[in-house]
Amino acid sequence: MVIVGAGLAGLTVAETLRAEGYEGAVVLLGDEAYGPYHRPPLSKGFLLGETQAQQLLMRAPELLAKKAIKLKVGATVATIDRTAKCVTLDDGTMFPYEGLALCTGSRLRALPLPGADAQGVVGLRTLAHAKNLAAALEAAQHVVVIGGGFIGLEVAAAARKKGKNVTVLEAADRLMARVVAPLISSFYFDLHRSHGVDLVLNAMVSELVVREGHIAAVKTRDGHSFAADLLVVGVGILPNAEVAQTAGLECQGGIVVDACSRTGDPMIVAAGDCTVRRMEDGSWRRLESVQNAVEQAKSAAAALLGRERPFTAVPWFWSDQYDVKLQIVGLTAGFDQVATRGHLADGKFSAFYYRGAKLIAVDSLNLPAEHMLARKLLAQGVSPTPGQVSDDGFALNSLLAG
Ligand SMILES: Cc1cc2nc3c(=O)[nH]c(=O)nc-3n(C[C@H](O)[C@H](O)[C@H](O)COP(=O)(O)OP(=O)(O)OC[C@H]3O[C@@H](n4cnc5c(N)ncnc54)[C@H](O)[C@@H]3O)c2cc1C
Repeated sequence: MVIVGAGLAGLTVAETLRAEGYEGAVVLLGDEAYGPYHRPPLSKGFLLGETQAQQLLMRAPELLAKKAIKLKVGATVATIDRTAKCVTLDDGTMFPYEGLALCTGSRLRALPLPGADAQGVVGLRTLAHAKNLAAALEAAQHVVVIGGGFIGLEVAAAARKKGKNVTVLEAADRLMARVVAPLISSFYFDLHRSHGVDLVLNAMVSELVVREGHIAAVKTRDGHSFAADLLVVGVGILPNAEVAQTAGLECQGGIVVDACSRTGDPMIVAAGDCTVRRMEDGSWRRLESVQNAVEQAKSAAAALLGRERPFTAVPWFWSDQYDVKLQIVGLTAGFDQVATRGHLADGKFSAFYYRGAKLIAVDSLNLPAEHMLARKLLAQGVSPTPGQVSDDGFALNSLLAG
């Protein structure tokens, strides 16, 4: 079995194959300099110096060796020959396969402006990026973040904790607009403001001012200029689907897979950030989360062994900013009503999203027990009424079966 991409999904495919009793060769090919490591701390504890690079590694090399998982780092897969059943690295090395898992993840979307490659302009996807950003953060005074999504805001929080002047420029009219309801956006706007972040909404970045090869300022279309000696670009990611596409696999904003992580080729599966799949509500989605990478990878490994293990769990995700933990379960797309539970003022509350009378998602802030309860409600398809949600005295768990 050959696995392309030594990230969370790739490692999980490899280990699941072993856990399921597969005894043949397992080769894990990754183009980074490191074996699989945890990405979420890169925008959280790692930037603050609370988590060291060594702690990010998912498995010690000895453990992989013990499981007979052959990890090859610095190995970039350039082509897949589906007829010969073989992948080829950019240095010409060939790896024949019986089963192939594509777990190539995603890469940063670039800022389409002159100056985006100047010194002091950084993104955050890999450990190499994070090391670069952490070093640049030490020296910086004025940090500008483009993008008020999860990663941009987590970096902004870390930069403020390090005492930097921080400005966040967001093109939309609210923060994290793609995922959360306006009341959560407002809560985070106030949270960042209270920590001294300068947040600018409806900010269309039009020019990067570069002096002597280094970023100096960012200009917006309405004529404002923001001094920057460090510019963090957090404008999203693109799936690494080109190798799959060139090999003729169906790709539509990601490698298309079914609920069992199968592509159109019976010998090839795909999992994690690089995939797109049809959700239970009929929409096509590419999810970027730890849970999605792990669950799809487990399905993918099962499929390689000819077994069906559909991924049907309700999606969940989290984000840490300052001392607020946001936990999201479900997909908010298409919501038409939000009911709240708890107390916004003390930052401990949940937002319940509805489409019609159906509960579709719940965001919980600093309420981990309520998040777990929400997971159960959604998994069982139980929709409390908005009235029950807003009534703190009503025990939502009384609605659960079993
Ligand atoms: C800074 C940051 C913070 C995050 N925070 C959270 C969080 O709080 N909660 C959460 O749920 N998720 C979070 N995520 C998202 C989560 O980390 C990803 O969804 C997850 O890592 C996806 O795993 P993956 O294995 O699909 O992809 P990746 O982790 O991207 O791994 C894919 C690997 O494949 C390699 N590769 C690509 N092409 C090739 C090729 N042709 N040949 C060989 N190798 C190749 C890539 O370089 C990479 O190493 C965060 C991500 C980042 C970057």
